[in-house]
Amino acid sequence: MILRTLALDTSWGSLTVAGGSRAGEGTLILLPQLRLGLEGGRPHRALAPMNTVLVSHGHMDHIGGLGYWASQRYLNSMGPGTVIAPVAIADQLRALLETLAQLEGGRPYDVTVDPVADGDQRPLRPDVELDFFATDHWVPTLGCRVIWRTQRLLASLAGLSGEEIAQRRRAGLPVTDERRVNLLAYCADSGPGLFATSPEVLAAEVLLIECSFYRPGDRGRATRFGHMHLEDLLAVADRLQCRHLVLLHASRRQRLREVDRFLDEQLRPQLPCALHHLMVDWE
Ligand SMILES: [Zn+2]
Ligand SMILES: [Zn+2]
Repeated sequence: MILRTLALDTSWGSLTVAGGSRAGEGTLILLPQLRLGLEGGRPHRALAPMNTVLVSHGHMDHIGGLGYWASQRYLNSMGPGTVIAPVAIADQLRALLETLAQLEGGRPYDVTVDPVADGDQRPLRPDVELDFFATDHWVPTLGCRVIWRTQRLLASLAGLSGEEIAQRRRAGLPVTDERRVNLLAYCADSGPGLFATSPEVLAAEVLLIECSFYRPGDRGRATRFGHMHLEDLLAVADRLQCRHLVLLHASRRQRLREVDRFLDEQLRPQLPCALHHLMVDWE
């Protein structure tokens, strides 16, 4: 399966987001420039080079490729990897990976499981941080924001020449401060309660969010299982500040052709931003 690939214009530059997603069958999202996987829901060759993988919760469509990821990294000497997962499932994931390595008869995989909770932050690299937030699903689930930390010239120095700024720098005076850019928010599996508990996701430049259900008759199903219905996204369309809205996780009750039609006819006309999706038929 060839993953769908988006090149998204952001203030960081062109951000590549590749992936595929279907409720119950697998969600796999890759940010190759950051070596970051958001979910490891399916085995895929493109997953192995991701040094860090966020597992938002323990459902099979989000962990089904994790053993493959760890094994491929071990077989190909790709170095240590990190799985970031909610505290509630971290021990079980660690045990699962230990068991898989034992079944293969080799040494333990070179993987660390890092437990995180709502409100935690982790550095991904010096200029990129991950902030985690709880979502509105029926098991403990965490989404994450990708924050780009960049330096900008102090506003008070805006009129100075390059030489004057260099003099200040040589004198040890501050010339920049940090700007924290809300680059991307990945909202994992979630119902609309997320918009009340973490409204900052609506301000991310790239918003990756599920939309499992589309037909009016599936409203109750979405609420029961903690998933988003198209109506939930229509309800927040005028609050979106993103440049790019990327939808994930359509139920198999919905053909992709129908999903495209629902999006074209109902959602796209209401949006102030570009609309994309990474939904695929895996087989
Ligand atoms: Zn799911
Ligand atoms: Zn789930």
